[in-house]
Amino acid sequence: NVRRLETVRRDFISNISHELRTPLASLKALAETLQSGAINDPPAARHFVNQIELEVDTLNQMTSELLELARIETRESDIQLAITDTCKIMEQACDRLRLQAERVKLDLKLECPSNLPQIMADGSRLEQVFVNLVHNAIKFTPPGGEIIVSAQKDNRAVRFAVKDNGAGIPADDLPRIFERFYKTDKARSDGGTGLGLAIARHIVEAHGGEIWAESIEGKGSTFSFVIPSAG
Ligand code: ADP
Repeated sequence: NVRRLETVRRDFISNISHELRTPLASLKALAETLQSGAINDPPAARHFVNQIELEVDTLNQMTSELLELARIETRESDIQLAITDTCKIMEQACDRLRLQAERVKLDLKLECPSNLPQIMADGSRLEQVFVNLVHNAIKFTPPGGEIIVSAQKDNRAVRFAVKDNGAGIPADDLPRIFERFYKTDKARSDGGTGLGLAIARHIVEAHGGEIWAESIEGKGSTFSFVIPSAG
């Protein structure tokens, strides 16, 4: 078991190194291009400086997501469970992303029944799960599409879903998307880090729940998770 942990850690570190290399290589190339003349061509220089800024944004996001993941993985007990107003959490997450969705002409809908059983949850972590899922739905759904965030009673648990009618996920990729850094070929260049779903999975599992995805390529994806209800 100790050996297995070691292997996981080694894979993780070689993964990070690999993921850092791409933006760093771009930054190096951009700096060299500027130095070898582009700096004296203002329109070109402006373009390269913009590119530099985008690469730095990616590195920044990667760093904060890695920190978040490390925090969650090492101190799961840090999660503060309390009786939680689930519909309110979902509403807050949707409010945070509504502008972003509208900007790309997506309809973001919230369906939360009033008689939902109460759950024990860490509100801000749970909100993070919705934010990560809805953010992905926005990224991978073309303009005119629809995203539905919903909740329903499911035996002694509450089942949540974030459904989009966007790009979908190839069947071969589907079993792997919750792995750290995993991205489909199409998503490789989009500036995401491949950590959002790994973080969502850790939060859900720390609540004693389970998360999964169903998708048909070209038709859309549904991410679902269950959290046991309180008492
Ligand atoms: P990223 O930062 O790349 O979004 P995630 O861990 O959140 O990282 O997602 C991993 C990969 O799963 C994405 O790169 C994308 O290929 C795929 N994916 C996640 N959500 C969706 C979705 N709603 N529609 C299509 N593909 C998705």
